[in-house]
Amino acid sequence: MRKMKKLVSLALSVVMAGMLFTSCGSDSAKTDTSGEATKTADSSKWSKEVKDIVSRGVLRVGVKNAVIGFGYQDPLSNEYTGMEISLAKDIADYLGVKVEYTAVTAATRTELLDSGDIDCVLATFTITDERKKSWDFSTPYYTDYVTVLVENSKNIKSIADLKDKKVGVSSGSTSAKSLVKEMIEKKVISGDKFNEEKFDPATWKEGVTFQQYDDYPTISTALSAGEVDAFCVDKSILAVYLTNGRSYIDDQFAPQEYGVATKKGSELSKVVDDLIKGWNSDGTTDKLISENKLK
Ligand code: GLU
Repeated sequence: MRKMKKLVSLALSVVMAGMLFTSCGSDSAKTDTSGEATKTADSSKWSKEVKDIVSRGVLRVGVKNAVIGFGYQDPLSNEYTGMEISLAKDIADYLGVKVEYTAVTAATRTELLDSGDIDCVLATFTITDERKKSWDFSTPYYTDYVTVLVENSKNIKSIADLKDKKVGVSSGSTSAKSLVKEMIEKKVISGDKFNEEKFDPATWKEGVTFQQYDDYPTISTALSAGEVDAFCVDKSILAVYLTNGRSYIDDQFAPQEYGVATKKGSELSKVVDDLIKGWNSDGTTDKLISENKLK
């Protein structure tokens, strides 16, 4: 019965999203999928990619496994929990298939999507104009901010204190560029050599430097060992590493809008976007945010 209710609510969400598109007159409104979408798992109008998922019976989703509240895998039970885990499950339910989670990092999520090992990514993945050139992103379902974690003994309290420091960041993340932009904005460093398109954390040497790592636990260890002076990424990701003797600096900056990423031009992109739009307007997203204590 609860499942039935959920399906009805999902279908309603999609109708609402469809109505929204029509009233905005967006490109998406030109494709008449809104009515069809209400017939849950009626894939007759879907393209091959979505049909393949339906006939496979599994939606393969890239998720984080160490971001509490978003994507977290319990080391004992192996169970995944978090807002992105629930959203992925809801998308799979809508398609009438099972969900399979694959743990990804900022560095691996796009490779796995490109290779077809996963169908979509729900992994604290920030929507940027640059990324939109390579992948499709849904409407955002959450907005986070970037901040910096430090060992209290280092006496680093603000953006200004990061001048001439070495900062640990994840490869493939927005973190280094966001921090440099903020330091320029706050006039801590000069922006003369900054080029938004060409910025590379590996070669940036103007008033702050970066060490890139493949995953977050390694950056945390490097911070303890003094290999880096600070650890910069989205606050939601840092939360798990905020242990005794560590603090965030006072500033948080660079809003990070998280969206579901799919292959560029994939039919799945529109299906997912319709669902997220519906859930954003019917309160499902807000409910997940509060259930996962993300507010
Ligand atoms: N959200 C940021 C990004 O997409 C931080 C990296 C991450 O998600 O791991 O670049």
